Amino acid sequence: MINKEMKYKAYQVHNFRTIPQLVALSEDEKVNIEVVGNVLPFKVNNYVIDELIDWSDYSNDPIFRLTFPQKEMLRDADFQTMKSALENNLEKDALKLVADSIRIKLNPHPAGQMELNVPEHNDEKLLGIQHKYRETLLFFPSSGQTCHSYCTFCFRWAQFVGMDGLKFAMRETELLIEYLEEHQEITDILFTGGDPMIMSFKVFKQYIEPFLDPANKTNIQTIRIGTKALGFWPYKFITDKDAQDFLDLFKRIVDSGINLSFMAHFNHINELKTAAVKEAIRLIRKTGAQIRTQSPLIRHINDDADMWARMWRKQVNLGMIPYYMFVERDTGSQHYFEVPLEKTWEIFQKAYQQVSGVCRTVRGPSMSCTPGKVQILGTKEICINGHTEKVFVLQMIQGRNPDWVNRPFFAKYDPNAMWMDDLKPAFGDQFFFEAELQEMKEASLEPESI
Ligand SMILES: *Cc1c(COP(=O)(O)O)cnc(C)c1O
Repeated sequence: MINKEMKYKAYQVHNFRTIPQLVALSEDEKVNIEVVGNVLPFKVNNYVIDELIDWSDYSNDPIFRLTFPQKEMLRDADFQTMKSALENNLEKDALKLVADSIRIKLNPHPAGQMELNVPEHNDEKLLGIQHKYRETLLFFPSSGQTCHSYCTFCFRWAQFVGMDGLKFAMRETELLIEYLEEHQEITDILFTGGDPMIMSFKVFKQYIEPFLDPANKTNIQTIRIGTKALGFWPYKFITDKDAQDFLDLFKRIVDSGINLSFMAHFNHINELKTAAVKEAIRLIRKTGAQIRTQSPLIRHINDDADMWARMWRKQVNLGMIPYYMFVERDTGSQHYFEVPLEKTWEIFQKAYQQVSGVCRTVRGPSMSCTPGKVQILGTKEICINGHTEKVFVLQMIQGRNPDWVNRPFFAKYDPNAMWMDDLKPAFGDQFFFEAELQEMKEASLEPESI
């Protein structure tokens, strides 16, 4: 049943002990949450707590693990450092210094995002924009850089914890439109964050309306909204006071001839079980918008092929389109969440084999790394000159150079490889794209020529 009275309420590290269901936890477990929650961002809301988590078995519950910090997310030494700092009742500023000293080691901006993807316009760096793939622009609206709840595995956590210099943000939609007008090759704009669906309607429409104004001559065919709101706050589209305004605007976008596509993050099938999420999906689809789904594969949360198969089927059943399975990338707690590449591929394959063609729109497992989105096609034994070698077969789904896309290539088999950086070319001493990628990196570091 849909709770028509549902009002958003969030808990963070300072007040999480008031969550009624936490009576199920021991004091030690609460301290663990507190210690990790003082380093990594922690926010969970009443929908997740009341409707998604099964409190009778919380420690094995995937949504509990998705939203509540786990002790093992920090290395033991770092955990002890933070624990002592809390026991010693350090002042707020001193506590933040301790937290920052741990955070800085956790490398939250991989894949050359800071150096390589930020474009310039009239000699100014456009900090809220990443233009990595020719057709698609990522846009980080400054008011969309937080979420309804935080995922424990999230790689964008630096945006939430208030460290200067790491936050992407841009207010000027004007600059964005100018950039798009100059770049007619860009057909897709992808609003991302954080979660753009955290914005109020008043703010959100400022970003969208320029695209509906015929005076602006961009070549945008598709507006995508990357969002976790369907998983974490479906009431956004049902009972929030501006829900109907959002739905009306979605319809206006579609009616203007622009494809509107929600890139919905669902990490587990349990996020699809409530009446509220089903209603939100129905209302969004009724506007003519599409919903595509994506998630990384994460240990302790969704490393289960049968669950993925059931989840894709359920998504299609609800009218959504499975889109990506990602490899968990280098985040602060990667040691806790990562699954080896071979195992990731096995889970993907085992799930993919169980579903019909309508679910096989999903692509993966894919690593978003510096050259592009690298897909693991599988492992294979190849015999050359009487010598047998086991390899990973890979290809790019997206490339920094579009010419790199859809060309199979090979890496030496390594059962422990977790990420592209761990892979070595199987034949020759470089992957086919490496020399060109090196040139791109050097060009982006060159001092400005006059
Ligand atoms: C995945 C991604 C996109 C979108 O790529 P599609 O293949 O169009 O889904 C755009 N920019 C970046 C940086 C990405 O990682």
